Amino acid sequence: MAFLKFEDIDKSFGENNVISKFNLEVEKGKFIVLLGPSGCGKSTLLRMIAGLEKIDNGKILLENNLLNDLLPSKRQIAMVFQSYALYPHMNVYQNISFGLKSEKISKNQIKEKVIEAAKILKIEEFLGRRPKELSGGQRQRVAIGRAITRKPKLFLFDEPLSNLDAALRSEMRVEISKLHKKLKSNIVYVTHDQIEAMTLADKIVIMNNGKIEQYGSPEDIYNNPTNIFVAEFIGNPKMNILKIKTNDIINKNTFKLLDKEIKFENFNFNKEFYIGIRPEDISLEKNSEIAIDINVDLIENLGSEKIIYTHLNGTEMRIKSSKNIKDKNITIYLPKNKLYLFDNNKDRLKA
Ligand code: ADP
Ligand code: MG
Repeated sequence: MAFLKFEDIDKSFGENNVISKFNLEVEKGKFIVLLGPSGCGKSTLLRMIAGLEKIDNGKILLENNLLNDLLPSKRQIAMVFQSYALYPHMNVYQNISFGLKSEKISKNQIKEKVIEAAKILKIEEFLGRRPKELSGGQRQRVAIGRAITRKPKLFLFDEPLSNLDAALRSEMRVEISKLHKKLKSNIVYVTHDQIEAMTLADKIVIMNNGKIEQYGSPEDIYNNPTNIFVAEFIGNPKMNILKIKTNDIINKNTFKLLDKEIKFENFNFNKEFYIGIRPEDISLEKNSEIAIDINVDLIENLGSEKIIYTHLNGTEMRIKSSKNIKDKNITIYLPKNKLYLFDNNKDRLKA
């Protein structure tokens, strides 16, 4: 039985169809990340799970219970927002315990729960402070603390780290990951940041225009993207994509890239298609027969790594390397087993 299940979910705002025929099954205990560009419907989906947004068509089930018509407060779900949504006039203790007051438990039990959450999140020493006396990261911990004390079946996070600076963001990322290992509860986490998705998720849902482009583990999505959208969305800098025109197809197994003939026995090339290669898979050492001489347009030095920019047939190419480059003209090598092939519709070409 799926822990969380979406069946044919549709959602429109007026004429604007935001989610269409969304189907997904999530196993118990998993950390799921919804990843996609701004406006693709991630928050809308999360808000439908929480009960903050009406579902037009379809069903959402939590442990086989239909959520659609349950009040948000009856869903046993806790949501953490980007904006923290803390009460400014209350201190940390009051903010964390606020939701517990409506449950019929004693003051001592409330205190225990607050202290337990504060310990997990390392905010015990701030319990007397008001939100404005806390840093962004500490405020976010308080918001998470409030969610934890309610012992929900499911946590929902909507871009919880996007208001934090880069250093804090990576620190909190690790904290959230540890939290999941400790609590072992299901989490649905929304972000447009691929690094958050790759590092946090058991499984990533790549969304685009209210639809699922791919659902899989981070490794699977990185290694086996089903189409160019996913291939370009995961990986930094993004995958290089080159178009192979009909003129460059020599026969059903062979095509030409510049003056290099490349053969794939198991494919059947009959119309134009695309090849992709990740910047980190291009080599400056000879490890392939596909050698291409390039002009270096620009080198971006990131410290341990460099991004070399060049162009092939007018298309910008990015190469990631740890080598120090002095020359303006270098040779790059494209390992054949690192080439991705996509058809004319930008879907992965099947052998
Ligand atoms: P994301 O979280 O992926 O950035 P959203 O789910 O917030 O995207 O929004 C998806 C689309 O739905 C956008 O086009 C947005 O403008 C629209 N939308 C979201 N909420 C509302 C609303 N309450 N009323 C009308 N349109 C909305
Ligand atoms: Mg959003």
